[in-house]
Amino acid sequence: MEQLKRTATGEPVDDPFRVTGVMMQYFHVCERELWFASRYLEIDRENTAVVRGTRVDETAYESERENLSLGMISLDLLQDGRVVEVKPSSTLEEPARMQLSYYLWYLAEIAGVERDGVLAHPTERKREPIELTTERREKVEDAIRGIYAVVTCEQPPPASEKPFCSSCAYHDFCWC
Ligand code: SF4
Repeated sequence: MEQLKRTATGEPVDDPFRVTGVMMQYFHVCERELWFASRYLEIDRENTAVVRGTRVDETAYESERENLSLGMISLDLLQDGRVVEVKPSSTLEEPARMQLSYYLWYLAEIAGVERDGVLAHPTERKREPIELTTERREKVEDAIRGIYAVVTCEQPPPASEKPFCSSCAYHDFCWC
């Protein structure tokens, strides 16, 4: 945790540790996928994201979309002071919640700004409020420790079959 905070605030760190929103999402989707992505093994990622419904619909909230980058995180937009994360569908709902929760945690811990969030699924006309409760904060911190353990491992975690493996960019690394 301290390593991430020192990296985020630009303090000298022997071994910088970064966690992006996408890494938080992958950690909750598949740890093996996170490991491959941490090695920059990108294979037709865009197509995969489309198939899984994790890619943001570029036309949603088009006029308001800001893509605010702050250190390790990149926010879709701020609306009435709340951080809005836009997803085209509610597939992989908990990973999306954790991605947004991480953004709220990062804003609170690194920028000293307390914000609530909204997970928006415009194509389904759904909006889910997300607050950084004590429980969510602990889940984010557990996940950060988990991500560190995965990405610093020399070998990828073993493959374990999931419903979305067939649409995963790394399918052939796991099942062929
Ligand atoms: S194919 Fe399945 S097990 Fe392999 S990285 Fe992708 S989601 Fe994970």
